[in-house]
Amino acid sequence: MKSGNLIRKVFFVEILKGLAFTLKTMLFTKPVTRRYPKVKVPALPGFRGLHALAKNEEGKIKCVGCGLCGAYCPSKCIYIYTSEGEDHAKVVDRYEIDVLRCVFCGFCVEACPFGAITLSEHYEYSNYKREDFYMTKDKLLGNWDKYFAGPKGERYFKDFWQPKSENFTGGQDQAMFSKVKVKEKK
Ligand code: SF4
Ligand code: SF4
Repeated sequence: MKSGNLIRKVFFVEILKGLAFTLKTMLFTKPVTRRYPKVKVPALPGFRGLHALAKNEEGKIKCVGCGLCGAYCPSKCIYIYTSEGEDHAKVVDRYEIDVLRCVFCGFCVEACPFGAITLSEHYEYSNYKREDFYMTKDKLLGNWDKYFAGPKGERYFKDFWQPKSENFTGGQDQAMFSKVKVKEKK
């Protein structure tokens, strides 16, 4: 062992350095404890909170029941039930999310070609019953009204989420890969 190392060990230099750092932090650093829930810090843009189903300008559900979100969901906690409506249009009868199984990865949002499923900034939804964490279509549409009504919804898609739904213009335009330039082989 080198003499320098030996001296450091004998005199507990590393431990003393650690203690000095702790003391310095205790005496001179302002505590960062927040008095939640009295003091609340707004969620950062793009925070993955409670889900909401987006509505279009006419106030109707944007979701077309394609099932992509459910297919991408790693927790398999999205359940979609559709039926055939007028002019063979697909009607979303039920759209449900078991929030207790969700890992808030955001894949459902990224997979959706219509910006129909969103994750809001709302994180205060603790409750006592499991049923309260089972989101039905009506609850999810209600969440849109609560957390995304007006410019908030536009901001959500504009500022944070990729891909943007306007990127989807056709079958070849997979927005998830639209920013990746693939070099052609010579
Ligand atoms: S955030 Fe992830 S785990 Fe949760 S519903 Fe969406 S895809 Fe599934
Ligand atoms: S939320 Fe989007 S991806 Fe999921 S079923 Fe509806 S349209 Fe398809």
